[in-house]
Amino acid sequence: MLAADFARLGEHVGEATHARVDRLHVDVMDGLFVPNISMGPAVVEALSRCTALPLEVHLMVTSPERQLDAFAKAGASSLIVHQEACVHLHRCVQQIKALGLRAGVALNPATPACLLADILPEVDLALVMTVNPGFGGQAFIQGTLSKIQVLRQQIDANAYPCELEVDGGINARTAPLVRRAGASVAVAGTAVFAHPEGVRQGIEQLV
Ligand code: ZN
Repeated sequence: MLAADFARLGEHVGEATHARVDRLHVDVMDGLFVPNISMGPAVVEALSRCTALPLEVHLMVTSPERQLDAFAKAGASSLIVHQEACVHLHRCVQQIKALGLRAGVALNPATPACLLADILPEVDLALVMTVNPGFGGQAFIQGTLSKIQVLRQQIDANAYPCELEVDGGINARTAPLVRRAGASVAVAGTAVFAHPEGVRQGIEQLV
């Protein structure tokens, strides 16, 4: 949703809801973990009133454990926290599950896949950042493909019930690359909301 026109948020959500998407991904930035500031629980709550799609909230914030309750109350269905932002990652994942939500963990481009090994059996979703988090519209980092492959192998070898998602620089050119590397979910922002022919066409070019 970061790439949507915030003045026409309801309209953009409506267009996405009627296209082939299975969730809305909301990028929350605190100006500390990442340089940018984006949106908070009030926007998630407003989104929840415009759509029946699940709301996946990606917390690019320091100490995300302090924000979990607020986003759960706002209507999030999944909460994704960053491995790099959590000293007590296992506890944080358990807190998300205790709220009745799906729990995800994200990795920045420079963080190796091995740092997820011990938490992978516990999570519903692993998110590989394919750009450095903080801004929409950045170019895909090619070197992240090998990390997607490593995580796909670990998930399949252990039959973990875990989605493997990618976020950043996903467009008609990079979507087939991440799919081939093993991603099961792709987040797209600019490619969808800035598509010259509209949201629906932006989504169609990716599927
Ligand atoms: Zn995101």
